[in-house]
Amino acid sequence: MATGKINVSVDNIFPLIKKFLYSDHEIFLRELISNATDATLKLKHLTAIGEAKVEYGNPIIEVKVDKKGKKLHVIDQGLGMTEEEVKKYINEVAFSGAEEFLNKYEDSAKDAGIIGHFGLGFYSAFMVAHKVEIITKSFKDEPAVHWSCDGSPNFSIEESDKKERGTEIILHIADDSTEFLEDSRISELLRKYNKFMPVPIKFGTKTETLPKPEGAKEDDPAPTKEVDNIVNNPNPAWTKQPTDLKEEDYKSFYRELYPMQFEEPLFHIHLNVDYPFNLTGILYFPKLTNDLNIQKDKIQLYQNQVFVTDNVEGIVPEFLTMLRGVIDSPDIPLNVSRSYLQADGAVKKISSYITRKVADKLNSLFKNDREDFEKKWNDIKIVIEYGMLSEDKFFEKADKFALYPTVDGAYYTFEELQEKIKANQTDKDDKLVILYASDKEAQHSYIETAKSKGYEVLLLDSPIIGHLMQKMETTKEKISFARVDADHIDKLIQKEDTQISKLSDEEKEKLKADLEAVFGEKSNYTVQLEAMDSDASPFVITEPEFLRRMKEMQQTGGGGMFGMGNMPEMYNLIVNTNHELVGEILNTKTAKKKERLINQSLDLAKLSKGLLKGAELTNFIKRSYEMVK
Ligand code: ADP
Ligand code: MG
Repeated sequence: MATGKINVSVDNIFPLIKKFLYSDHEIFLRELISNATDATLKLKHLTAIGEAKVEYGNPIIEVKVDKKGKKLHVIDQGLGMTEEEVKKYINEVAFSGAEEFLNKYEDSAKDAGIIGHFGLGFYSAFMVAHKVEIITKSFKDEPAVHWSCDGSPNFSIEESDKKERGTEIILHIADDSTEFLEDSRISELLRKYNKFMPVPIKFGTKTETLPKPEGAKEDDPAPTKEVDNIVNNPNPAWTKQPTDLKEEDYKSFYRELYPMQFEEPLFHIHLNVDYPFNLTGILYFPKLTNDLNIQKDKIQLYQNQVFVTDNVEGIVPEFLTMLRGVIDSPDIPLNVSRSYLQADGAVKKISSYITRKVADKLNSLFKNDREDFEKKWNDIKIVIEYGMLSEDKFFEKADKFALYPTVDGAYYTFEELQEKIKANQTDKDDKLVILYASDKEAQHSYIETAKSKGYEVLLLDSPIIGHLMQKMETTKEKISFARVDADHIDKLIQKEDTQISKLSDEEKEKLKADLEAVFGEKSNYTVQLEAMDSDASPFVITEPEFLRRMKEMQQTGGGGMFGMGNMPEMYNLIVNTNHELVGEILNTKTAKKKERLINQSLDLAKLSKGLLKGAELTNFIKRSYEMVK
């Protein structure tokens, strides 16, 4: 038996690395299985090019827990190592790699920014084991080797009588890491990191029920047999060519990724590039609600089919983190902080590639099956609107297919909308005024008033729409958005012809005084006398567009003015001086009757704006019954 000292400059770096990588101990299994996979795929390559004259067969990787012996085994049937190779790759390369890693990350490893710890490799076994053994037999005709190391830089190496080709790594699990002797914990890790690795991984066996033999009786038990429990799918959909996959394959892969998700995805996008970077993957559009706080972190990042993280921030543009699916790229640097990642040229290219692919897919859906696209619009609009807001490149593309639904269920692109409304909805300053509602029920009377003028009313109800309108108003020329209750109908879209008031200036003064006397101090209504059509409502409550939109924008974050969110609602009370009822209020002699008329009218206006509540509502009902009598 030979012994030696591993060539590292630090005397005992094992405890050190163990300590500061505490949160990530579990990655040792991913590392060992990655090595076993590499060794298997290397052998495959060597046999394919005729360099290794052995039968490749159907190799698998096996993970075994020996709870009694406190050992964990990882066994592969890959190319193995000769004694020379163990000395070189394990004693020198692996450990120097680990030391290099240590030097590089001693300070920054605690920085939450680091994703995973790729590059730690074989050495990570010592995070959970007090002793590690390697028994390996090369595909070359050389004796097997048994290497053993107890956690100090001292190792021993001797011949072994292992007959089969491949490598077995044995971890003697340390007392503080016995969780890794639990089947359930190992299963969980295999599911998390190795679900789609390219070589079949066996963990124990399972019982399979066989068909009953012919002539078996009704209540004879079906025969069973023990088979290997293979925990992974070595050929996940994203590694295949899109032409080899059917719609159903994409759906079943979605179920494989999210077994707890019962809703089907709306559509998928298959990503596949090899220049200037390598990237494959499948993204899915799930049904999204109007809730901005929906769970992100649903896209999984892989590197050559090894799970890395489900936090793709910085790699996938923010607005697409609401999607689901997988991306796999060997070109994403993993040992760096998030801020570095965002500045990395390759990562920037990846991010803009993904954005472009998503835009192209949406565009082709829109072009090829508009009806279906319209049906899905409500479930996908939040991603598109968010993308238009945050990425200018995406805005340019999406502007062609983003839809504007009307309250009556028609869908227009912006261009179509412009065409449709420009004749009737251009105001005296040549500005195109786009009317919208955010709630069909609550704003019903305002919608009806607008429609009676022949105006088109959109239904825009997503939480970030205010921000998008703001952006549209600044990027496009001469347009503005106004909610149907932002002003009274003649002012919403102001045309040349102004109405002549039936009231004289003195009468107006008196009317205003009468009204203010009844409203008193409490009111947050600004009274505005307007000469309108005699059949327009006598009293209308409006909410100016600008302030309301700023408030709403601030509630969904950013964009609005500081402190706006806390401001009280401000309303205008528009009084139509040409309405009969208003004339009656003015001319009523008895103070009591005047007050009643004013209160009743104000309450009706409040009612149609959804503002009449509580005691005010109770009083209104009481008063109304009195009047009905
Ligand atoms: P890396 O995988 O990044 O090269 P590791 O520290 O994980 O670094 O492994 C060091 C080297 O040890 C590998 O490059 C490989 O040559 C060798 N090795 C590790 N595990 C195995 C294995 N199961 N079979 C054959 N060789 C292995
Ligand atoms: Mg490795």
